[in-house]
Amino acid sequence: MEYDVVVVGAGPAGCMTAKTCAERGLSVLLLEKDAEIGAPKRCAEGISMRGFERAGLEYNRRYIAQEIDGAVLWSPSGKSVVMQSEESRGYVLERKVFEKYLARDAIMAGAKVMMKASAVGLLKRDGEVGGVVVESMGEQEEVKAKIVIGADGVESKIGRMAGIKTLNVLKDYISGFQYEMAGVSNLDMRKIHLWFGNNIAPKGYLWVFPKGDEISNVGIGIPGTENEKKRAREYLDEFISEHPEFFANASPIEVNSGGVPVSGYIKESFVSDGLMLVGDAAQMVNPIHGGGMSTNLYAAQICGRVAAEAIGEGDTSKERLMQYEREWRETDGKRMEKLLKLRYFLENLSDEDFEYFADVLSGEDINNMQKGKTKFLLKMLVKKPKLLLYAKRFLSG
Ligand SMILES: Cc1cc2nc3c(=O)[nH]c(=O)nc-3n(C[C@H](O)[C@H](O)[C@H](O)COP(=O)(O)OP(=O)(O)OC[C@H]3O[C@@H](n4cnc5c(N)ncnc54)[C@H](O)[C@@H]3O)c2cc1C
Repeated sequence: MEYDVVVVGAGPAGCMTAKTCAERGLSVLLLEKDAEIGAPKRCAEGISMRGFERAGLEYNRRYIAQEIDGAVLWSPSGKSVVMQSEESRGYVLERKVFEKYLARDAIMAGAKVMMKASAVGLLKRDGEVGGVVVESMGEQEEVKAKIVIGADGVESKIGRMAGIKTLNVLKDYISGFQYEMAGVSNLDMRKIHLWFGNNIAPKGYLWVFPKGDEISNVGIGIPGTENEKKRAREYLDEFISEHPEFFANASPIEVNSGGVPVSGYIKESFVSDGLMLVGDAAQMVNPIHGGGMSTNLYAAQICGRVAAEAIGEGDTSKERLMQYEREWRETDGKRMEKLLKLRYFLENLSDEDFEYFADVLSGEDINNMQKGKTKFLLKMLVKKPKLLLYAKRFLSG
């Protein structure tokens, strides 16, 4: 078998990359090791409207479970700050269906999909990556390709096989644990809900993402280092039992867990001769909230376009493929750097700090801060001089 491009992994990043390549006339094979696209779900299924639209996607009632018009941030003692603005709009998806539609779009554009097909090795051609060894239904075969694209998620092996350093320290992985629950009540179901506090979710947060019809994703994400001391699941179970006002009549209908890389992105290069990494495989995840779909889908569009251009020019060297990496670093990459700094700052806040923020900040203030509106920040610092201490702490990194 021989293709222009082999994409390993049919998650959001792989499907979007395959579609982008196929639309540009390349022959594309998309490999998925599991028996079903979209399952098992390792996701709270939230995506911002901006991320959704930037991926060129349109409203589809078959995979949009709930429209979201804002977020509620909860302090450890239960004070709430409501954020409601254009930026906080989004969707909670039915991801098992969403991903199948992404794969469908790739197929409609001309890509071939192979299920229960695992890439277990890389082929070399004149020193460059030149294809993959695929294991499917107990048989192995070689598939040649001009470019191999590793979209094989957080546990990516393709990068490592190509000699790219993909492993982080434990603190740069979030341990995620979640129940999809029926019967959650007394929460505004058009908003996502996030709880902060060192006894609730140390250095992370706990969430309720509503999916409509009294069904919600109820989950927690904490750094791997904290998870070693006490499991994420234990924090979540405690929170659920301590909040009967929301969960007295709720029970799980699905259990999800998984790791999230929150280092921003692979700092060393995530391309090499004949090879590109995209999505969680390149650790392109928002380091503040651990959401990856928006950034992954965007990166996949750049990755697919550059792959097509490089193949068109007959140059699949690392140097040529670096155009993808440069475009990513200049756009979302820059944003990730800033967010990484904010993550370190937020991780060191005490419960008293969270209470203070809940007392003095409105949803609009937090929105303006996120956008880095400097005039507004100065005004706020004059009104609430104690915030200067936090600004200093943030700036000193
Ligand atoms: C608990 C939790 C909650 C989350 N909540 C959100 C959220 O609300 N919003 C959000 O945007 N993100 C969320 N994320 C992160 C999000 O799920 C990921 O960023 C996203 O799935 C990454 O997409 P991807 O395509 O890069 O990788 P994946 O979705 O992991 O897809 C990789 C695919 O590659 C396949 N694969 C792996 N190895 C091989 C191989 N050798 N051969 C063939 N196939 C292979 C896998 O089976 C898989 O299908 C959450 C993560 C967790 C763990």
